[in-house]
Amino acid sequence: MNFQNLTISEIKQHLNKKNINDFYHHYFEFLKKENEQIKGFLFFTEKLAFETIEQIKNKDTSLPLWGVPIAIKDNIMVKNEKCTAGSLILENYIAPYDATVVKKLKNAGAVIVGKTNLDEFAMGSSTENSAFAKTLNPFDPSRVPGGSSGGSAAVVGKGLIPIALGSDTGGSIRQPASFCGVYGLKPTYSTVSRFGLIAMASSLDQIGPFAKNLNDLILLFKIIYGKDYLDSTSQNYQNNNQRIATIGIPDEVFSLGLDPEVKNAFDDFIKKVKTKYNVKQISLPSLPYALPTYYLIMTAEVSSNLARYDGIKYGRRSANHDLLNQYLQTRKMYLGKEVKRRILLGSFVLSHGYYEAYYLKALKARKFIFQDFQKAFQDVDLILMPTSPTLPFRFNEKTQDPLTMYLADIFTVAVNLAYLPAISFNISFYKNQQNNYSLPIGCQAIANLYEEEKIFSFLQSLNFN
Ligand code: GLN
Repeated sequence: MNFQNLTISEIKQHLNKKNINDFYHHYFEFLKKENEQIKGFLFFTEKLAFETIEQIKNKDTSLPLWGVPIAIKDNIMVKNEKCTAGSLILENYIAPYDATVVKKLKNAGAVIVGKTNLDEFAMGSSTENSAFAKTLNPFDPSRVPGGSSGGSAAVVGKGLIPIALGSDTGGSIRQPASFCGVYGLKPTYSTVSRFGLIAMASSLDQIGPFAKNLNDLILLFKIIYGKDYLDSTSQNYQNNNQRIATIGIPDEVFSLGLDPEVKNAFDDFIKKVKTKYNVKQISLPSLPYALPTYYLIMTAEVSSNLARYDGIKYGRRSANHDLLNQYLQTRKMYLGKEVKRRILLGSFVLSHGYYEAYYLKALKARKFIFQDFQKAFQDVDLILMPTSPTLPFRFNEKTQDPLTMYLADIFTVAVNLAYLPAISFNISFYKNQQNNYSLPIGCQAIANLYEEEKIFSFLQSLNFN
């Protein structure tokens, strides 16, 4: 069997209780070999997979994901498996329970095959901040897969697996989806339980699906959403299925530094959209403030969420015996540079005298951003923006200057600040004739709260599949 580019329905059609063991023996061989080149998986969960297979043999094969393989970002807990969050401090940490999304996947009959690489604690836009591996872009090995869910995006983009889970705090599903040419959905805040997700910035974090096929993305979303009493912020999904008539394009997008290749692709896509929909120029005046607002709120929440990694409660600990030095040494030795930078920034913006000037101001700006979107959605059904201002960039291109790396998030962070759902999808490929490579370009469709369905029908109406 050819394992490349399989969809959920192809796998389900092929599999039955008799051939599933054999399928997975060969599939793991394929995965291990292919992963050598792309390094999207940090490790495989082969033992768990074969245990799952034995269990699902007693279940109905009509379960929505019966026998379907899935990859999980390594900041989402799978019971009795390592959960590193890409950090040395959790290198040997074993998850004591399943995240709610993982439980739901298991109940749907899915087979978890491995955990995928990420920027340490999901902080980054290239997966270069992982303490363990360098994941390569499936279209050009000299370039990054995006981040922080770069491993999940790369293995789906390479066609190794039909679906994967990631997390998105400021773009970490959408930007790597764009760089790897796949679909990535950041759901409405609160629709998917975060129980068992290693927290980065709790007012922004959402778990969401990656897929190469649109129906697979929708199916996976419908399996993982819903209220969970273990995550008090979660809510029942309210499905608002209304008609789409008008699409908005924010003027501000064009003054925020778009690379010409991305701009051309985006312009061409808008032309295509115009053949079917009313396209309207809109204004989101607060959009230019989204990036600074995000980097204040996110770092504040990071500094508080990461205080728990002190060498006592979780993970690795320095050998130092006096208490204070044990804390200090543990964090010094086992947390990476970017994580430390954000803890410092976040502690600063929360400190006495600066709290009002930075953190409180950022909270107010967040409100404006939310209101701007709400105002826009009175006139339009969906908003389109590029996912990333640039093509997938090269390794080390942005690692020396954190600010240039942060700029990669310019179009994605506003969506998290406004709690909205958005999908990144591929609109074209930039072809470089000279060097003979082609790179995917993504666009994101943003809907109002709980209106994921509108994005699905928009994409279907334009024959995305
Ligand atoms: N790239 C963004 C950051 O570095 C987003 C991260 C994320 O969504 N987890 O913060």
